[in-house]
Amino acid sequence: MVTPLGYFDLVETFPKPGCVVCNLVLRDVDHFLDLLLYERVNEPDSHRAFRARRGLCNEHAWQLTRYKGGALGIAILYNATLDEVLNIVEQVPVAMPTAPSGIRRFRNGGADSAGPALAERLEPAMPCLACELRNGSERSYVRVLSEYVDDTQLQDAYRASEGLCLPHFRQVLRLVTNPEQLQLFANIQATIWRKLKADLNEFIEKNDHRRAHEPMGAEGDSWQRAVRRMAGEKGVFGSDPRSA
Ligand SMILES: [Zn+2]
Ligand SMILES: [Zn+2]
Repeated sequence: MVTPLGYFDLVETFPKPGCVVCNLVLRDVDHFLDLLLYERVNEPDSHRAFRARRGLCNEHAWQLTRYKGGALGIAILYNATLDEVLNIVEQVPVAMPTAPSGIRRFRNGGADSAGPALAERLEPAMPCLACELRNGSERSYVRVLSEYVDDTQLQDAYRASEGLCLPHFRQVLRLVTNPEQLQLFANIQATIWRKLKADLNEFIEKNDHRRAHEPMGAEGDSWQRAVRRMAGEKGVFGSDPRSA
């Protein structure tokens, strides 16, 4: 069996702070947006995608604005998006004068449902491009982790790391069917969590006035690490409900 590329990415990225899957997914999305903005901005496929998806989701649209020198690319892609939403909104039926009942009626039928129908037509027809990429990338790293849990190199890298975030740990667990591998996997993660919990306890105790004179050590940012480990890194789990 050929070792998947994701395997080497995982081994290389485990030593970095944070969840390895979160870090790799963020890296892949960053590469994707960079490529979109600087190399694929004039491709008809990119324009079609921006039209159908009404641009990118909130999270990734704002991420796009942070790329240096990306203004022209963004203008081109969102020009196509604006063109699409204008085409839709300009097809709205013309309102009739106020009906006797006081309810506004529309000539083209569908009277009272015209607003919701227009809103529906303006919804993205497909998930955000970056969310799609993120989800695919996430699935592939999670699968490799679940398949290579017995691999010594990967296991050592995992043990020495800050562990997976809770959402990604759950995703891997769902794919591990062998009970021994499951136990091994859970043990590694539990050891990492116990260390984090010890840091949290130390942080809490040092906030007690009797120990307030003691300087903070590695436990100083344990509260932030706890949030990141339980929630996942910022921007990894998007807010686009259609991308789930
Ligand atoms: Zn994660
Ligand atoms: Zn997105």
